[in-house]
Amino acid sequence: MMLKENPSLCYQCAKCSTGCPVSKEMDLMPHQIIHLLSLGQRDRVLRSRTLWMCAGCYACAVRCPNDIDITTVMDELRSEAVEKGIPCPHPEVLEFHRNFLKDMSRRGKVHELRMMGEYNMRMRRPFHDAAVGAKMFIKGRLHLLPPSAVGGFSRWMKKLWRS
Ligand code: SF4
Ligand code: SF4
Repeated sequence: MMLKENPSLCYQCAKCSTGCPVSKEMDLMPHQIIHLLSLGQRDRVLRSRTLWMCAGCYACAVRCPNDIDITTVMDELRSEAVEKGIPCPHPEVLEFHRNFLKDMSRRGKVHELRMMGEYNMRMRRPFHDAAVGAKMFIKGRLHLLPPSAVGGFSRWMKKLWRS
């Protein structure tokens, strides 16, 4: 699979890694991911924990002096790892992604309460973060009823799932 970004533009300044809020959880820093890609070590990258720790915050992409969109690279690599059947080192993260998309495809917006409830049931830990959820509910940040549907969005998502 061709990446949209060109990793050989990177000159290894590591600004991406120093700005990454979750770099401590990664086995390869974002600049190392880009370096390995430019060396053709794709398989090592696809098996990395880093792909599943990335929060998609775009801090790295904004900081890159060469305008390399590392966030999108991470997205593309995650999809490729799933397509190739490479075992995810953090199955709970993959499950969360799937649950999020499934919930989004219903109405075009996420119903957080239902999504987290279903996710916790799937992970067989129904009361995980229940105290946090209760606080958010009291503060009005979680809603019992699902949000109103975005016109046409759920149809578009279903089409995307099929392609
Ligand atoms: S998008 Fe991912 S890799 Fe980039 S700074 Fe955010 S968490 Fe780190
Ligand atoms: S910030 Fe850009 S140029 Fe610098 S190491 Fe990261 S990807 Fe390479």
